[in-house]
Amino acid sequence: MLKKCPKSFDTFGYFCTYEKKQMNNLPKRYLVTSALPYANGLKHIGHLAGAYIPADIYSRYLRAQKRDVVFVCGSDEHGTAIPIQAMKEGTTAQAIIDKYHQAMKEDFADLQISFDVYHRTSDPLHHETSREFFSYLHERGELETKETEQYYDEASSTFLADRFIKGTCPHCKSNRAFGDQCESCGTALSPDELIDPVSTISGNKPVKKKTTHWYLPLAKHETFLREWILDQHKDDWRPSVVGQCKSWIDGGLQSRAVTRDLNWGVQVPLEDAAGKVLYVWFDAPIGYISATKQWAIDNDKDWKPYWYENDTQLVHFIGKDNIVFHCIIFPVMLKLHGNILPTNVPANEFLNLEGDKMSTSRNWKLEMRDFINDFVKKENGGDQCVDMLRYYLTQIAPESKDSEFTWKGFQDAVNSELVSIFGNYVNRAFVLMHKLCGGKVPRFVEEIADEKDHQLVRDIANARTKIEASLEQYRFREALFDVIDLARKGNKYMQEKEPWILAKTLAENPAQQQKIDNCMHHCLQLAANLAVLINPFLPSTAKKMCSMMKVVDKMLDWENAGSMKLLSVGYSLREPQLLFRKIEDEEIACQMDKLRAGAIAAVDETKPAEEKVHALKEEIVYDDFGKIDLRTGIITAAQKVPKADKLLQLEVDLGFEKRTILSGIAMHFQPEDIVGKQVVVVANLAPRKMRGIDSNGMILMAEDASGKLHFVQPEHTIAAGAKVS
Ligand SMILES: [Zn+2]
Repeated sequence: MLKKCPKSFDTFGYFCTYEKKQMNNLPKRYLVTSALPYANGLKHIGHLAGAYIPADIYSRYLRAQKRDVVFVCGSDEHGTAIPIQAMKEGTTAQAIIDKYHQAMKEDFADLQISFDVYHRTSDPLHHETSREFFSYLHERGELETKETEQYYDEASSTFLADRFIKGTCPHCKSNRAFGDQCESCGTALSPDELIDPVSTISGNKPVKKKTTHWYLPLAKHETFLREWILDQHKDDWRPSVVGQCKSWIDGGLQSRAVTRDLNWGVQVPLEDAAGKVLYVWFDAPIGYISATKQWAIDNDKDWKPYWYENDTQLVHFIGKDNIVFHCIIFPVMLKLHGNILPTNVPANEFLNLEGDKMSTSRNWKLEMRDFINDFVKKENGGDQCVDMLRYYLTQIAPESKDSEFTWKGFQDAVNSELVSIFGNYVNRAFVLMHKLCGGKVPRFVEEIADEKDHQLVRDIANARTKIEASLEQYRFREALFDVIDLARKGNKYMQEKEPWILAKTLAENPAQQQKIDNCMHHCLQLAANLAVLINPFLPSTAKKMCSMMKVVDKMLDWENAGSMKLLSVGYSLREPQLLFRKIEDEEIACQMDKLRAGAIAAVDETKPAEEKVHALKEEIVYDDFGKIDLRTGIITAAQKVPKADKLLQLEVDLGFEKRTILSGIAMHFQPEDIVGKQVVVVANLAPRKMRGIDSNGMILMAEDASGKLHFVQPEHTIAAGAKVS
């Protein structure tokens, strides 16, 4: 049933219509969470694609639907990795969390992640909330206590775990093994497995000391977990999530320590628990609750219904490494504490980068901050780059399997989809409207409408239905695909209607103006619909489109999608603005260089000093060297070799003859930059065929520590063909 919206927006140029919905089946409120990022370093685009962009799209969609939604997140600031990072950076744990909390908060804001609150677990409100949670479970006898023996450093009066204890690896015998893992062979270790352990704090040999801790007995809740996940949610949760839960449950649920001996974290609220804090896995998810409380304080709302009422839909967006915490452990905690359980946990798989897993230690990564500095903060279209990244990361979202970020893929997605399909459609519609319809929204006359017009109206309505269904089921890739597909249909409609051809014979046949008007009317209504539909994904683009159409952002309310009356007849629109800029080849090449150089530097840093110097090849006699004929030459032409990323085809003048030489330097130099350079050539090297081209000689290059190549050249330019010896 279509009804006029009680509030008219005629003055802004569009009508608002809406379908009266059956609201009865919908949850009353939504609580959306993104995994709390750990405050020991900057986060990379894999994190962004896994837990933040999907949650942001979902929250923006719910807001556009006018549903009650709170989107919470915050920094996870406890755990041993924080004081360890402080030791590394030569500062305090507090300085570390302050630094990274602020940096992450800024990065998320720069990339338009629209948290309603971004909290932090070092906040007193969180400490209080976590202590209350622990006490509630403890008082009701839901926790077990166990006494164990652990390594203790008497000099610093601390129990030693993880990185606070090091020794020899029992597997590879390396002396770079820690209480959690061996740095050499990567094996996961416990402190008890280390040979000759020492404290990393004092350097002393530790002693064993008895200590008591509280445990969450997960096995007691196996029946609940089986019924709740494997029966109730086997169809509506992602198969990978249910599968991982099943293997955890089938593998036998162990009691998990809730507390540990550490002086960084939430103090255990018991008298006999001095020097003990809550384990970070226990207090971190409670951070969602404290963040909600903070939001309620800031906005004068009640937080309790979001955590206690069954008509709340709680959705956790996480990466797959977090499944066990959000699907098994935290739900058990929530159940025992009397809270609601998550409705869904749409966990994502991992995002790889240029053919390899992202890794901080190997420096094979693209941090959000890097993208912001290299693209977003640049002049001329930097503001468009946020949506360009959001687009690509959604298009390759690892929803059901690992996927891969490549710079070439980013360039293709932007240039051949955003620019060529979506941007091009909107631009053409506006340019033609100004040219053929005098800059105003033309009238549509139903009497002369044809099947193509009717089909476009159906396409728009169907797109909304499909996109909505996908978004409700956390299928963001598919939803975005359907938005672009609708723009594609718009291009096709315009191409088939050819209003510019009709305009050429207007003098002879004035009646054709109405055909032009009909076409442009539909094209503009479609453009307005595209703004509504793209808004959850690319919010800046939608806003820019609103400005071009001179309408308020309220037009972006989801209820407007599917309407052919969003822009009212006779309303004048602005000139089009460029929505997206192209990504150039040089930008991609530059990012690839940066990625490789970073990775090489990281390898060098971890290598023992003796390995950093390249070992010399075996000794040769003068006669061996004398066989090599080295000559100077000048590069007279250079071009890329098709389908070979690394090769440049060079024409080199040796004075006495010209040579074609293939050189593996394409990652380091642009062809146009090296023409005219003097080089040294191995002139008597046997010819070799590569990519169907005969390479006749070799150019000498020197490689610096970062892996960058430099030409070996005479000090001054000399005649080509000179002997080098
Ligand atoms: Zn090892």
